[in-house]
Amino acid sequence: MKSNKITVILVIAVLVALFFALDLGRFLSLDYFKTQQAAIEAYRSSHPWMTAGLFFLIYVAVTGLSLPGAAIMTLVAGAIFGLLWGTIIVSFASTLGATLAFLAARFVLRDWVQSRFGGRLTAINSGIKKEGGFYLFTLRLIPIFPFFMINLAMGLTPIRLWTFFWVSQVGMLAGTLVYVNAGTQLAQIESLQGILSPGLLFSFVLLGIFPWVAKKIVAVVKARKVYAKWPKPTRFDRNLIVIGAGSAGLVTAYIAAAIKAKVTLIEKHKMGGDCLNTGCVPSKALIRSAKLLSHMQRSQEFGIRKTEADFDFADIMARVHRVIRDIEPHDSIERYTDLGVEVIKGCAKIASPWAVEVTTPEGTKTLTTRAIVIAAGARPFVPPIPGIDEIDCLTSDTVWSLRELPRRLIVLGGGPIGSELTQTFARLGSQVTQVEMAPRIMMREDPEVSEHVTQRFVDEGISVLTNHLAKQFVVENGEKILIAEHDGQDIRIPFDHVLVAVGRVANTTGYGLEELGIPTTQTRTIETNEYLQTLYPNIYAAGDVAGPYQFTHTAAHQAWYASVNALFSPFKAFKANYAVIPWATFVDPEVARVGLNEQEAKEKGIAYEVTVYGIDDLDRAIADGEAHGFVKVLTVPGKDRILGVTIVGEHAGDLLAEYVLAMRYGIGLNKILGTIHIYPTLAEANKFAAGVWKKAHAPEKLLAWLERFHTKRRG
Ligand SMILES: Cc1cc2nc3c(=O)[nH]c(=O)nc-3n(C[C@H](O)[C@H](O)[C@H](O)COP(=O)(O)OP(=O)(O)OC[C@H]3O[C@@H](n4cnc5c(N)ncnc54)[C@H](O)[C@@H]3O)c2cc1C
Repeated sequence: MKSNKITVILVIAVLVALFFALDLGRFLSLDYFKTQQAAIEAYRSSHPWMTAGLFFLIYVAVTGLSLPGAAIMTLVAGAIFGLLWGTIIVSFASTLGATLAFLAARFVLRDWVQSRFGGRLTAINSGIKKEGGFYLFTLRLIPIFPFFMINLAMGLTPIRLWTFFWVSQVGMLAGTLVYVNAGTQLAQIESLQGILSPGLLFSFVLLGIFPWVAKKIVAVVKARKVYAKWPKPTRFDRNLIVIGAGSAGLVTAYIAAAIKAKVTLIEKHKMGGDCLNTGCVPSKALIRSAKLLSHMQRSQEFGIRKTEADFDFADIMARVHRVIRDIEPHDSIERYTDLGVEVIKGCAKIASPWAVEVTTPEGTKTLTTRAIVIAAGARPFVPPIPGIDEIDCLTSDTVWSLRELPRRLIVLGGGPIGSELTQTFARLGSQVTQVEMAPRIMMREDPEVSEHVTQRFVDEGISVLTNHLAKQFVVENGEKILIAEHDGQDIRIPFDHVLVAVGRVANTTGYGLEELGIPTTQTRTIETNEYLQTLYPNIYAAGDVAGPYQFTHTAAHQAWYASVNALFSPFKAFKANYAVIPWATFVDPEVARVGLNEQEAKEKGIAYEVTVYGIDDLDRAIADGEAHGFVKVLTVPGKDRILGVTIVGEHAGDLLAEYVLAMRYGIGLNKILGTIHIYPTLAEANKFAAGVWKKAHAPEKLLAWLERFHTKRRG
């Protein structure tokens, strides 16, 4: 480090050390001020300029050295100099002090920080270059970080000195005014009654509501900036346009119509989106047929010597499509039209924050709207593995058009969709190899969950290849082969069909987001705030396109927020609440979870206790021939408050509902234990898990005392 840098560090360190060693902070307290108020006032009357100058210098020193006391000094400025002069003095002194701290941080640390973390700071640096002034203005107006931290942190960024100076001066002005004003009232307090004076109370109310007002001001300034280049219609044809009629879009439109808004729902493909047409519904219908076959294969366990399944895969697929058709009316144009939604079959493109172009076979028209909800969903991700284009791979979009059962099927991916379809096709008779590059399938769940499911898969004849990285597809002599890398070796896996299920990507291109500059996240979903607003406060996103979850029930959950916020903001808006999100993977045994599991609790450093109840001990599970799996509950150490639950077993998804309710409404294990559960049901597992917890937390001392009590009573 250069010697002049060392000198600066030493000077700052000595001054700060002196401040604390001599306990100079005691002079920067309200108590001290009150004791000296009369003397200060007398001095100020005879030496007004000197008083102002001294105060100014002390203020600059305190803020420049990042010492505690600036807030108290601002109040005191009001008390000594009054509103106008107090504000002028503090405004300039604080800006000068902040700039000195900024310069010190920049001089001493910036080069080191940028050279050490430059790569990781690229996004921040370019953001600061582009928007630094506004960002600083926001921080100054809404003090979510301490004043000194902003000065020091900004010094490490590429923001220009002059920008920092004037933005700080302007940004802090409103806050300074409010504080100095409160200080003017402090000067008047002579007695206890003075504390309750209306003037002082009003000043403190101002202090309290200031951050809220500032937030609103920032929101308005921000909004003006993003909307600047878009002409706003004088009136709108509709209150809301919803793009996409999947789970998120349907619920959004439903809610809007129910509360009497004029809403248009635009769908370019099929009503019901993925869930109805290519997701939850067909997969669960196919799983049902496969489960029936698995039960028939296990018939001897149930005392039935022999069963024979004579079936054609095409008939099973016909049933899958019948199920879709049976459910279709729930999501149909007719139903939604009856509910009061205008439904348009066509392709939507956002033309401006208030206009959507719809292209139908009849042509293109532009609709104006006060708000837009984007619910455009996601699609299967097909990784760019060499040779993948030559082998006509299946995805969850296309697998439903199969009419012949694949003989040898590779399923690429060990997540929920890949695992559900792996077991289903194996049960239907395909020879299935599941290929996963991670060390285990269902990586989001705890290791014993993956082990349990993997063991069942292996028992059912599935080849589960974990730690296998798909490298290339080749066709040799008409035979399709996947080359996967495992432990540095190339493994060749011949197959007839491959189903790619390695994740889903949000649909974020081709319908106006690029033109409007609506940003996406690192996971390629649309970036939204906690109200589900995009960069444009009147454009919202919900469902798979917004993430972070990709489930039908979370899409519907977000849809409520998107719809209500879109229709009532800025008067009232709700933050999307993700506190208790459940989900299930419909493999057999089912895996269902809500809240934390052990691996997440460890990652997040959250203290927990684990209680496990084995479902192999449950009467109903034994009677049903499904005596396997477990209920695993994480609780706050020493308390019955539930942090998360994982259930593995028959109907785990249904069983979990009790815990979801408990977590949502803060019901602990003691109350679950005290609730009657019907005998014999699988739901008793929930109560028994609570019982295991209770036993582990038995009041040992009290029980020992009771034992003595009963012994005594026996005489
Ligand atoms: C195989 C499989 C099984 C699944 N199983 C389950 C399960 O058991 N439980 C569960 O909770 N979830 C499950 N999911 C996930 C669930 O299907 C999705 O989370 C859910 O469908 C997301 O709904 P969405 O409204 O966000 O998107 P989508 O349902 O994808 O709807 C988006 C709609 O927007 C339309 N659209 C897109 N762009 C435009 C445009 N420019 N103009 C007009 N329309 C447009 C699309 O055509 C589509 O209909 C499963 C998914 C798959 C693939």
